[in-house]
Amino acid sequence: MPRNGASYHWRSAATVALVVGLWPALAAAAGEPPSSCAVVDIHEIGWERLESLKRAPGGDWWIEIGRELLVCGDGAMLAPAAADRPVRPVEDAVEAGRLWIARGLSGDQLDQMGLEVVAGSGRLALVRLQTGAELVAGAGDPGQDAHQALVAALPGMVVVRQAANRPAAVPQDWNPAVQALVDEIDGDRWFIDVQTMAAFNRYTHSPGILAARDWLVAGFEALPGVTVETPSFMVGGTAAYNVIATLPGSTRPDDWYIVGGHYDSTSESPMSSAPGAEDNASGCAGVLEIARVLAAHPPEGTVLFICYAGEEQGLLGSEDHVADLVASGDAGKVQAMIDLDMIAYTGDADLDCLLETDPFAQFLVDLLADVAADYTALRIETSLWAFGSDHVPYLDQGIPALLTIENDWYDYPYYHTTDDLPYHLSITMGEEVLKMDVAALAVLAGSGTTHVFADGFESGGFTAWSATVPN
Ligand SMILES: [Zn+2]
Repeated sequence: MPRNGASYHWRSAATVALVVGLWPALAAAAGEPPSSCAVVDIHEIGWERLESLKRAPGGDWWIEIGRELLVCGDGAMLAPAAADRPVRPVEDAVEAGRLWIARGLSGDQLDQMGLEVVAGSGRLALVRLQTGAELVAGAGDPGQDAHQALVAALPGMVVVRQAANRPAAVPQDWNPAVQALVDEIDGDRWFIDVQTMAAFNRYTHSPGILAARDWLVAGFEALPGVTVETPSFMVGGTAAYNVIATLPGSTRPDDWYIVGGHYDSTSESPMSSAPGAEDNASGCAGVLEIARVLAAHPPEGTVLFICYAGEEQGLLGSEDHVADLVASGDAGKVQAMIDLDMIAYTGDADLDCLLETDPFAQFLVDLLADVAADYTALRIETSLWAFGSDHVPYLDQGIPALLTIENDWYDYPYYHTTDDLPYHLSITMGEEVLKMDVAALAVLAGSGTTHVFADGFESGGFTAWSATVPN
């Protein structure tokens, strides 16, 4: 994940007025007493019970955020609907126009901005303005992270959804051909590569990143059928190089699938040390591990394995690749892109992984959540709010793309420090994410002589398939 410009300071009336305008029903009801609200624990409650909570008699509106649901309305309605679930009443009235989704802001930052957490935590939290505080859109502060932002929270929003709380999708049957590929993912082999990569200083302006580039090129070139290119672009006065390894498809060479993750890193004193084991040797070494498995079982579609440079300076490597795709007329060939960024930290025994994309590419979330259930021990959370990593330039170009990221990354104490070292990582966590990703690629790109497509996939393509998945 990169750092740079953020966008909001507090004390502006204009922004708040705009947001109030987005709550027509509630703003119109300004003369009525404000709703009383409560936060219900919906951890793995299941789709049916979640829906019944949202439709409870007396309820006016709700916002869903991961394991918590904010419900507002007649305070009495929650007791029967929530039954055995823990419920936390929200003190004071919740007013229209004063609720926001905070992305990646620390508790201290929220406090300084006059915001308090209502529900959710970590990467995305539902917050509200304290009485007397106002927000202002301000100039970027280079000391803050690009993934930090405030977005107006509206009734009926699903900010984050646990996979266990999704409606049942069209089942992706367990397939022995996919399982065979999944079984070839080798967490120990991957971890050795993470250690090797963490020994390079991969900061964009350090000469060490060129040695890392050469090591990656050699790793991909050793694989059968793979060709490697290193197109360059400039970051400030420094040349940066993407590493792009191509495995041509056996029967559908013009259907391209991209699996990528950045290999550059940073820290608080990056010219002296930037090991970036979790961010993002974990993901980049994962791309290499997936390439080993797929090169041994050539897929029907073409797979591009990409290790991006310049991510920490603002997604520059993925932007450069998308620009090249557009210039060469190949953008339309790309059927899907899977981004691996920070895949191997876990703060606890819960192997939770976040799948993130934009609404138009929700079929990718459905596919990965499905194969995660079939082939891994991961617990999946999902978000349709893409930001902050190399999937974004593809989404901006209309190319379906999805980020796979461990869901404790925001609590990772060594993020962007010289102590982001391999021993903080979990081999199990990394291996499970790679198993999910290789299973998804096997379904998407197909594998050799074995038929691994979902029914309808080959004839109808994504549109037909995703149209059968309930939202
Ligand atoms: Zn990263």
